[in-house]
Amino acid sequence: MKVLYVIGLGPGNEKQLTFEAREAIGKCQVIAGYALYADMVRKWYPNKQYITTGMHQEVERCEKALRSADSAGVTGMVCSGDAQVYGMAGILLELGVKYPEVTIQIIPGVTAALSAGALLGAPLGHDFAIISLSDLLTPWEKIVARIRCAAMSDFVICLYNPSSKKRADYLEKACQLVAKYQSADTICGYVRNAGREGEMKKIVTLEQLEKISADMFTTVFIGNSMTKKIGEYMVTPRGYQTEEEE
Ligand code: SAH
Repeated sequence: MKVLYVIGLGPGNEKQLTFEAREAIGKCQVIAGYALYADMVRKWYPNKQYITTGMHQEVERCEKALRSADSAGVTGMVCSGDAQVYGMAGILLELGVKYPEVTIQIIPGVTAALSAGALLGAPLGHDFAIISLSDLLTPWEKIVARIRCAAMSDFVICLYNPSSKKRADYLEKACQLVAKYQSADTICGYVRNAGREGEMKKIVTLEQLEKISADMFTTVFIGNSMTKKIGEYMVTPRGYQTEEEE
């Protein structure tokens, strides 16, 4: 059978690679991916064949992976975190229509919201919205509308791609937008390099969040009106205690 596994690697350490992902990688003869992530797998499995491409070569990377699965052998396309979440799973399924003999199987991974969230405590204990601040593929107006609706509805907001060199002030803009609906002392947090070398985390207020310098390996959490700081943890209560008190 011709198989292409689309594998979420988790944040970047072997411990947070799921058992299923490890098993799928084990079955692959060829591993495709953005160089950074393919190299991660290469460290663990040096004897496989690797197809690596640079950043912004997503379609080419997917075509190569599909061709490999079609003619070279069991292939795995690896992504960081989860392969659905701003990853390659969708585009592979779209392009996969041209390769009817290839079975595509998506293997979930621990997405940054979860690995970074766990480091902060439990910021995602209630309804949340994940929003990417990257306007490479989404118009900025749409991003603004989503942030506004999420803040207005008191969602916890988890921001991916909070910043890059070209978009240095996007996080600041997002915070200012949220501040129209949430108080300046709303509990927020951010994590850089979750599960990787250079890992750091910090809990701040919404007002302070505006000033931080985030990079492309940072995930940001903006709490809802119930989110609180408990010691060194950021916690969005589910509401159990309130129920008991009622
Ligand atoms: N598919 C990935 C997300 C890709 S978008 C996933 O499911 O995690 C890239 C964004 O993910 C980054 O800009 C950052 O916001 C977040 N991210 C990915 N890895 C991270 C890590 N190790 N630590 C913190 N944030 C991370």
